[in-house]
Order: sequence, then structure tokens, then C-alpha cells
Amino acid sequence: MLDLSTNVQYVKGIGPRYAAMLLEKGITTVEDLLYYLPFRYEDRLNPRGISELRAGEMASVIATVRTSGLFRTRRMPLFEMTVGEGRNTLKCIWFNAAYLQDKFRAGQLVALYGKVEADSRHPDRLQIMQPQFEILDDPIERGAQADEEQRKWQTLETGRIVPIYESAGKGRLTARWFRRIIHGMLERMEGELPDAIPPAVRGQMGLIDRKSAFWQAHWPEVGESLAQLQAARTPALFRLIFEELFFLELGLELKRRKMRAQTGVSFAINDQVRAAVKRILPFHPTAAQKRVLKEIVDDMREPSPMRRLLQGDVGSGKTIVAFEAAVIAIENGYQVALMAPTEILATQHYLSARKILEKAGYRIVLLTGSQEASRKQHTRRHIAQGSAQLVIGTHALIQESVEFDRLGLVIVDEQHRFGVMQRFRLMKKPGEADPDVLVMTATPIPRTLALTLYGDLDTSVLDELPPGRTPIKTKRVGDDAAEKVWEFVRKQVKAGRQAYVVYPVIDDGAMEGELKAAIKMHDQLRKRELAVLRVGLLHGRMSADEKDATMAAFQRGAIDVLVSTTVIEVGVDVPNASVMVVEHAERFGLAQLHQLRGRIGRGAAQSYCVLMTGGRVSPEAEERLDAMVRTQDGFEIAELDLQQRGPGEFFGTKQAGMPNFRVANLLRDRDVLELARKQARFVLEGPNAQITQQEIANAVMHLRAHWNRRYGLVEVG
Ligand code: ADP
Ligand code: MG
Repeated sequence: MLDLSTNVQYVKGIGPRYAAMLLEKGITTVEDLLYYLPFRYEDRLNPRGISELRAGEMASVIATVRTSGLFRTRRMPLFEMTVGEGRNTLKCIWFNAAYLQDKFRAGQLVALYGKVEADSRHPDRLQIMQPQFEILDDPIERGAQADEEQRKWQTLETGRIVPIYESAGKGRLTARWFRRIIHGMLERMEGELPDAIPPAVRGQMGLIDRKSAFWQAHWPEVGESLAQLQAARTPALFRLIFEELFFLELGLELKRRKMRAQTGVSFAINDQVRAAVKRILPFHPTAAQKRVLKEIVDDMREPSPMRRLLQGDVGSGKTIVAFEAAVIAIENGYQVALMAPTEILATQHYLSARKILEKAGYRIVLLTGSQEASRKQHTRRHIAQGSAQLVIGTHALIQESVEFDRLGLVIVDEQHRFGVMQRFRLMKKPGEADPDVLVMTATPIPRTLALTLYGDLDTSVLDELPPGRTPIKTKRVGDDAAEKVWEFVRKQVKAGRQAYVVYPVIDDGAMEGELKAAIKMHDQLRKRELAVLRVGLLHGRMSADEKDATMAAFQRGAIDVLVSTTVIEVGVDVPNASVMVVEHAERFGLAQLHQLRGRIGRGAAQSYCVLMTGGRVSPEAEERLDAMVRTQDGFEIAELDLQQRGPGEFFGTKQAGMPNFRVANLLRDRDVLELARKQARFVLEGPNAQITQQEIANAVMHLRAHWNRRYGLVEVG
């Protein structure tokens, strides 16, 4: 008897040798194999005739082999094959494919998939380079072994929509192999599969049962459309996607409820605290800042620990909000930790904290990884004794086992760069209340995605820029206009402004290339184009002290032009800098460009962003540059970025602790995500007339046993 947890080696046709190959794909159980879904489907029910093909499209063709042979060109052997009949023929070409000689024979029926193009020498004829192929029927072999089994497979591989699997085991486990194995396995699985989604939810969502869902996800019903399958909106795929997202949302909701039930610090807000907060404000907060602060304050007063995400585009003024929260905590007699992703940023926060909080007279310390051991030792002692009230640092704060005396609030800047949510606990003493946590991010995250990735956090959005900002003028120029650009920079500096010039990571030599570009250009600009100006250099390989010194010089205006790699990307705040020149802008991602541009437009002066391109610009890069010129809206830019890079890249899968989905795709399935979230909440509101205690317990048990680890929700339960 096969059940979901049976090891695949016991599935008919697999055995230990193939099981070892499957392991490469992370497949160990029957369930894993069921989730090994086709990456596409091929319509072999209505295959198109060769006469219907058009150059430029992806197509699958079923046809009969006419001739084939190996040709030696000067560069490499080419295998050429012609399929079809009469005037309707199609040429297929494979490079370096001597091994195909023995595969194909005239008269075989083959399925081919690939991009159709016009033959360069005979433009009226079509060809496919390197098509994927499958031999569907071979008259010679058929003569030899015309058994039942053989015929049965034939009907699975033609005359229907056929699942195409990624091959495994260095090509030995072919799509065809997976078809047979999975089909056979499904046939041998008896009875229904256990389903932990409560019946009421199944009913409301119109879900089909799990077993049918797997059957039809692998073997679509005759009559289903390829378009529906591609969009993953057949009943089968919908059911599997919903299931996955439902348990994710259930987990997040449970985590959130559990957090709520924990004891945190309940901060008091009295007149004295209010006065202290007022005193530090260097300007009138925007309406958005006021609203967000109120949301934070409401959380801080509650006895349950705050878990709040503060989203705000670059320059929206998150820092001051964070400092206000810090004042509340410190005035209540607690310590505050502020963590930044880089030393530059930590240092900058430290400097601005000292300035802004000066009147309050707090003891503020800085702790970063590159400090001398004795100094760190000293700082740690102050933290442990409670005499340091605001502790600013990098993740050294977590890594170097810093223990606080009375930690009340943790502020994390740009959290998505290092997933540390789970480890805040390490910083507080056992038995003490959970500190409040405020996470700040400048990556505008489309709402539904924010709900999922940070579904256990409450969200605040700073959706308004401080007043007095003039929109940044963004221009794109080719690097043949460089002379004009430098002239412009000189003019701006003469008018009292400062400028950044940024160089990208260069693909070939990774870090080395990047450094060389910045270092070389720094040298050149200093001697030639910008010789009359004070030009500084900043890059990742400099020591922390050198970086600090350079940043400080730029900040106080002792440097006019800062030549840099992307180390200045996040958070750096020099309001007088109003020009950003990005060279090779085509090599930067959208989020990066947006972050870079966010370094300017921070003061009252008109700011300019110049995106220089050199060499070939891909269509995607064109799209990015167009978007940058068109808009400054972080959410709009984030949407396009997400589409271009996909969710994994967008969030930096590993750091963010992105759930490792089996079927769902956050970009494609945002609508399902929203439904799943509603249903998860509905279930946890129960029990009620529709859902019993038992059903809820079942769902939670299933979540723990099957999904928790995959989602990284280790704390649930
Ligand atoms: P970010 O959200 O990118 O961290 P910052 O907190 O660095 O933005 O703020 C950007 C700039 O705007 C800073 O120079 C800050 O002093 C200024 N600023 C923030 N809030 C206001 C405000 N309400 N009025 C005027 N200037 C503000
Ligand atoms: Mg900031």
C-alpha cells in the first residue's frame, strides 16, 4: 500500500538506484513525487500542422521523420532532421549531437517543441534549432513488442494534453519516465487522500478533493485549455495552490495570535514622555508621520509585544519616527537597540541620533563588527549594566551575544537584508518581557505580498514625503554625452551643491571589476574632468575607519563629489547632495536605481539624477530606465521590479526567509493568497456553526506536521 509518506523507492518502477537520482530533486516520498508537477503542458490533442506554424513562435509539433543525418561543419558536428510530408516539412537542427544518429529513423512519429524560425537560406522554409523532442511511436520497435503496455503509453503521450516534466538524474529520468511512473503510482494509490482543509472552507472555495487534484494536475482532463493550465487556474491547480497558501496564512495567523498572547512591555505615555518626544523634533512631522507614530504608540502601550513593519519610500522620513519611538522607550526606563544592515548606515544613524537626541541627554553607543575587541568589550559592559540607553549597531548586536539589562524596543532598519526576526529573543534576559520590535523597510512591498511575507507583522505605511521637496529631474544619456555631464556637475558644485557618481558591479570580475571602475574613474575624474573640485572615493573594501572618515567629510561638505560603488545605496542622508550620476545604469536593478536616486532630493534645492548608459542595453534594461525617468513612485517601481525579477530575487529569498512554495507563485497567485488569508482567519475565529473544534485542531496539526518547516514558521504552535 502506498501512502503519502512511503519512500519513493517502493513505487513500482523506481527502486534504490532511481530513488537516489530523485533525491537530487529533493524527492524522497510519494508526496514529494506527487508535487513534482509538470513545468508545462503540451497540447498533443490538436497538434498544429506544419503549414500552420509561424516564425517567431514557440510551438509543439507532431510529425513523422523523413530524413536525418550528421553533418560535419568546420566548427562542430550538426545533426539535421527533416520531418513532415510533401511541401510541409520542417527542419530541426542540433549542435554537437552525434549521439542523436542512433535515435532517429525515417517513419518514427516524433513530438518536437521549440522556437520556430525562418531558415536563413530559404526564408520560406521553417526550422527549429535544438528542439526538445520525444519519440512517440516507432514502427520497427512496435513490430517487435506490440504488447498492451506499449499501446497504453501511446495513448498517454499523444491525443491529449501531455505533462512535460523537468528531467532528472543527468537526463536519465526523462519526461517520459516521469509520466509513466507518476501515472502508475496514482493508479496504485487507493482511496482518498486525507484532507486537513476544513469541509466548510472546501465548500466555500469549491475545492475538488486532493486525489483528483493531483491526478488532474499531472493529467489534465480532456477539454481543459492550455491557457487555463498555463495560468494555473484549472480546478486541480487552484486546489493545490490554495491549499499551500491556506496553510501558510494559517501559520502566520497563529504566530501572530501567539505573539499577541505573550507578555511584552506596556509603555506609559504621560505628559513627561510627550514633552520629551516633542523636544527632539527638528521639524513639524508630516501627517503620515503623525499617523504612523500613533499606530506605533498604540502598540507600545499594549501589554502584548509590538511586531510592526514600517514601510516608507526612500526619503519619507522613517528615521525620525524611529527616534520618537526610542524616546518613549527610554523615558520609560528601557533600553533601545537599533540595527542597521551596514556599518556606514549604523554609523550614520549613530551620528544623527547624537544630534537629534542631544537635548534629551541620553547615553548612546555604537557597536559594529569591525571595532577593536577592547572597545567592543567596553561597550558591551555598558549595555549589560544598562547605562547605555540607545544602542546602535550592525548585526554584531546579535552575533556577538550582547546582553541587555532591560531591553524594551528593537528597531531594525532595512530588515529584508538579514532575516533576524527569530533571534531577537537572544538579546533579552530569559524570563523577561519580550521587547517591542519595529522593522523599517524602504522597499515598497505590494500590499498582498507584504501581508504574506510579514503576515505576522502589523503594517504602517509612510505614504507622504516631507514638504519642500522638489521632484527630482531624471535624465537618461548615452556615455558619449559624458563631457556635458561633468560640466553640469561642475556647475552644480559651483552653485553650492554636492554630487554622487556611482559605478556598478561589473559582471566579469565581480568585486574586482567594480572596484577598478570606481577607483580608476575616481583617479581620472580627479585629475581631469573634475580637477577643480574636491573628489572623494568610497567603496566596500575600505576599512570602516576610512569609510567613516570619507562619509563624514562628505557630510560636512569637505568633499564635493563622492565617487562610489553601491555601498551608498541604502539610507545615506546628505541633504545638500543634489546630483546623482549613475554610470552604466543599464547594469543596475530597478530597486537599486531607485535607492540610489533616493540619496538625492532630500533638501530644498532642485535635484538631478543622470542615468548614463554605455554599450548594449537589453529590452529589460530599457524598461527599467524608462520607468526611472517616468516615475518616482516607489510602489510603481516595485511592481515592475517584482515582475522583472520574480518574487525570489525581489525579496532575496534566503535572507527574507521566503516560504519555499511547491506550487504557488506569489506573483501569479496574489488573488488566491488573499482568499486563503480570509479563509485562514475565518477558521481561527471558530468553532462555529460551520467549523468544529476537531476540524480546527486537524488543520493545525497538519500545518505543523507538513508545512511549518517549509514555511520557516518554526515558532508556531
Ligand atoms: P528615510 O525614510 O529614507 O529613512 P529619512 O528619515 O532619512 O528618510 O529622512 C529623509 C530626510 O527628510 C532627512 O533629511 C530628514 O531630516 C528629512 N525629514 C524627515 N521628516 C521631515 C519632516 N517632517 N519635515 C522636514 N524634513 C523631514
Ligand atoms: Mg533610513
